Amino acid sequence: MDLLSVIVPCYNEEENVFDFYEELMKNAPFFRERDMEVELWFIDDGSGDRTSHRVKELAAGDKRVHLVSFSRNFGKEAAIYAGFQKAGGDYVVLMDCDLQDPPSLLPGMFAYIDQGYDSVATRRVTRKGEPFIRSMLARAFYRIMNKLSRTEIVDGARDYRLMKRCVVDAVLSLTEYNRFTKGIFGWVGFETKWLEYENVQRRKGETKWSFWKLFVYSLDGITAFSTAPLALASVMGVLFCIMAFLLIIFTIVRKLMFGDPTSGWPSLVCIISLISGVQLFCLGIVGQYLSKTYMEVKNRPMYLVKEEI
Ligand code: UDP
Ligand code: MG
Repeated sequence: MDLLSVIVPCYNEEENVFDFYEELMKNAPFFRERDMEVELWFIDDGSGDRTSHRVKELAAGDKRVHLVSFSRNFGKEAAIYAGFQKAGGDYVVLMDCDLQDPPSLLPGMFAYIDQGYDSVATRRVTRKGEPFIRSMLARAFYRIMNKLSRTEIVDGARDYRLMKRCVVDAVLSLTEYNRFTKGIFGWVGFETKWLEYENVQRRKGETKWSFWKLFVYSLDGITAFSTAPLALASVMGVLFCIMAFLLIIFTIVRKLMFGDPTSGWPSLVCIISLISGVQLFCLGIVGQYLSKTYMEVKNRPMYLVKEEI
């Protein structure tokens, strides 16, 4: 008998846990038909509400429900990794708790697995119901990301994904601390079928991603999958050297031909502040990579478990 592991990262989702379970179990006839067992792994990412209590209530009535509780909020990436480590299934599916990843798509996803695909991923074709600025910035991020990195990252890709064991093992073999799962899925490769669907609004509660959190996450994504910004520093350095060289020639020629008709200091101040700005910017880029390297070298665990059921 095949086993399907469902991984559900939860952060302050007390209102959604039961709804999610109910919605997922609507697939029970399909699971039976396929002769497939199911296990659920709720990863409580340090919620401050009663999320873990809700999961425990579920676990009391259903042996297939498991809970891993973190000692604090380690972020969705850590929760995903923990889920992958726990999941023992021949197939693993990753889903959000807020029902933005409709469990009703599962039978359709398995149809593609049966056709021989290693993983079935989803992307939303619309961003209906999302603030305009957020959609615009998200689009810009994917454009920049795909220019800078050779790993393809699909615009609108969600983390909702059904995988065979081999893909899960590949993802687990990447043990980096700064995780950007969307990039990791692209990096490991395998034959992936993309399913498209309309954006679904979150069932209850609010999004757990603030604007700032998303912004930092996007920078993490870029530095994790591209070293192009480091090259940018060198390119700018060369450009400014050329500019300075031309300016020197210009100044000398002007001195020889006309004496020195204007006082130089306003232009000097502008140039100095421009160049020092660029220098600081480049130093910042180097600092970004250095800090990531620092965190990797420390080799801290990605998460700490408080409780497990
Ligand atoms: N989540 C998490 N840790 C966090 C933030 C979010 O485990 O620090 C979970 C959250 O509970 C949800 C999923 O990740 O199941 C997606 O989060 P959310 O719906 O808030 O993001 P959005 O769908 O708005 O991008
Ligand atoms: Mg959501």
